[in-house]
Amino acid sequence: MLLKIDQFLDRFSMYRLLIYYLTSLIALAIILALLGTITYNPLSILLSSAITVFSCWLINLIFASIFDLPTAFESSIITGLILSLIISPTLGLYNILFMLAASGLAMASKYILTYKHKHIFNPAAIAVVLTALGPHQTANWWIGTGSMLPLVIIGGYLIIRKIRREKMILVYLISTSLSTILFALISRVSVSTSIYDMVFESAVFFLGLVMLTEPLTSPVKKKNQLIYGGIVGFLLPPQVHFLNFYTTPEISLVIGNIYSFIVNPKVNLLPILKEKIRLSKDCLEFVFNPTKNFSYLPGQYMEWTIPHSNTDSRGNRRYFTLSSSPTEKDVRIGVKFYNKGSSFKKAMLSLNKNSLLLAGNLGGDFILPNDKSRKLLFIGGGIGITPFRSMLKYLIDKDEKRDIILFYSIKNETEIIYRDILKEATQNLGIKIYFVLTDKKVNLKVPNIINQRLDFNILEKVVDDIDQRLIYISGPNIMVKQLTRELRKNNISPRNITTDLFSGYS
Ligand SMILES: Cc1cc2nc3c(=O)[nH]c(=O)nc-3n(C[C@H](O)[C@H](O)[C@H](O)COP(=O)(O)OP(=O)(O)OC[C@H]3O[C@@H](n4cnc5c(N)ncnc54)[C@H](O)[C@@H]3O)c2cc1C
Repeated sequence: MLLKIDQFLDRFSMYRLLIYYLTSLIALAIILALLGTITYNPLSILLSSAITVFSCWLINLIFASIFDLPTAFESSIITGLILSLIISPTLGLYNILFMLAASGLAMASKYILTYKHKHIFNPAAIAVVLTALGPHQTANWWIGTGSMLPLVIIGGYLIIRKIRREKMILVYLISTSLSTILFALISRVSVSTSIYDMVFESAVFFLGLVMLTEPLTSPVKKKNQLIYGGIVGFLLPPQVHFLNFYTTPEISLVIGNIYSFIVNPKVNLLPILKEKIRLSKDCLEFVFNPTKNFSYLPGQYMEWTIPHSNTDSRGNRRYFTLSSSPTEKDVRIGVKFYNKGSSFKKAMLSLNKNSLLLAGNLGGDFILPNDKSRKLLFIGGGIGITPFRSMLKYLIDKDEKRDIILFYSIKNETEIIYRDILKEATQNLGIKIYFVLTDKKVNLKVPNIINQRLDFNILEKVVDDIDQRLIYISGPNIMVKQLTRELRKNNISPRNITTDLFSGYS
C-alpha cells in the first residue's frame, strides 16, 4: 500500500503536489459554501484566492527581476493559495487591501528578509505577523474548521510522506496536545473542550502539514526537525501566553523559523556551469564554479532550480547530491537521464557553459561518522553512488584510511561511473569494492564481481562482521527500502542503518 502511495507521489514534485492539494482545498471550500456548510460566499472564496494567487505571482516576478534572480514561480503560487486559506475570504475593500498587503509582504520577505539569498521566514506566516503588527489585520485561519479537516489531513499526509517529515509532525502534534492540556489546566478551562477545539476548530493540522514542512524555512537535520516541531507545537495553542503576550499560529511558526535559521547551514549559491562530462550512456556530470566559498560535508545534497518553460507536473526543482568533495574547488553533481525524461531533465540537458543556476537548501545526514574507527558498509545502487564518490574523494584527498566495504549495484559494466575514484580508493585506502552486476551475462574482468541481485544473503556471506558496521544505503526508492527491510528483519539495529532515498527514480 505504502509502495503504491510512494509510486504515485513520485509522479509529482513536492511543489506541484502542494499546488494541487491547496487548489483542491479551495474547491472543497467552494462546494461546502454552496451547500451552506461553510458560511462564506462561494464566489468570494474563488475571487479572494484569485486575488492572492495573482498578486503573489506578479509581485514575485517583479522582485525576481529587480534582484536579478531566477524565479521559482511555483512557490509564489503556493504562498498565494495559503494566504487565501488563512485570510477571511470576504470582498470588502478593506479586506481586499489586506490580501494585497499580505501578498506583497509575503513576496517581499523572500527577497528582503534573507541571509545569503535564503529567506528566513515562511512567507505567508511572516506576512500576516506583519499585517497584525501594522494595520492590525489578522489572519482568521478559516481553513481550520471540522468540515475541511478530512481533506486537510489526507492531502497533508501525502505531503509529509513525500518529504519524509512524519516524525517531525508527530512530535509537533504531541507537543501541541501537551501544551493545550497544560494551558487548559493553568487557565482552569475544560481540558476536553480545549482538545476538541484544537482538533476541529484550529489551525493545528493545516499549519503543521502544510506550512511547518516548508523545506527552506525548516531545519535540514532530522534531530533539529524534531526540536522545531516541538517548539512550534508547544507555542501554537491560543491559550499559550507569556504575561500579556499571546501567541498566534503565525507567531509560533515564525519563532520556529528563527530556530531553523540559527541551526541551518546558511548557503545559497548561484553556481555557473563550467562543463558537462559524460560518465556513462545515461549519466552526465555537471561541473560548476560555485562562485563563492561555502562549506559542506561529503554526502550532502542541495536543491537545484532550473527555471524553464512548459514545466511538467514535476516542477522546476530537484535535489542532487554533491558528488564533489569539499576538498575540491568545483562543485559537481552526477545526474541520470531517461529517454522519456521530465521537462526539468530536458532543460538540464540543454544547459550550456556559463549557464547560471540556483542551488540552496543544503542538507542531509548521509555523512561520514565523526568516529573514524567505525567500520562502514556502503551500498550504492546506480546513480546512488554519488554520495560515496564524494566521501571517497574526501578520504583520498585527506589520506584518511577507514575500514570501508562498498557494494556498487548496477545492471552491467557500461553503467559503472567514477572508475578513477573507485580505483584510487582501492589502491590508496585499501577500500574493498564489490561490483554487483544484475544483468545475466557478465564479461567484465575485474575482481570482486557478484552476478546477481543484491540481498541480505549476499551481504552476510561477504561481510562477516555486518552487525558491527554502520550501513549506508543510497539509490532508487525500491532498492533502499527492500534492503533496509531485509536488514531489519535480520536483526540489524536501525541505529546502524542510514539511507539516502533518491526519490523520483522507481
Ligand atoms: C536527497 C536526494 C538526493 C538526490 N541525488 C541525486 C543525484 O545525485 N543524482 C540524480 O540523478 N538524482 C538524484 N536524486 C533524484 C532527483 O532529485 C530526481 O528525483 C530524479 O533525478 C528524477 O528526476 P525527474 O523527476 O526529472 O525524472 P527523470 O529522471 O526525467 O525520469 C525518471 C522516471 O520518471 C519518468 N518521468 C519523468 N517525468 C515524468 C512525469 N512528468 N510524469 C510521470 N513520469 C515521469 C521517466 O520516464 C523515468 O522513468 C536525488 C534525490 C534526493 C531526494
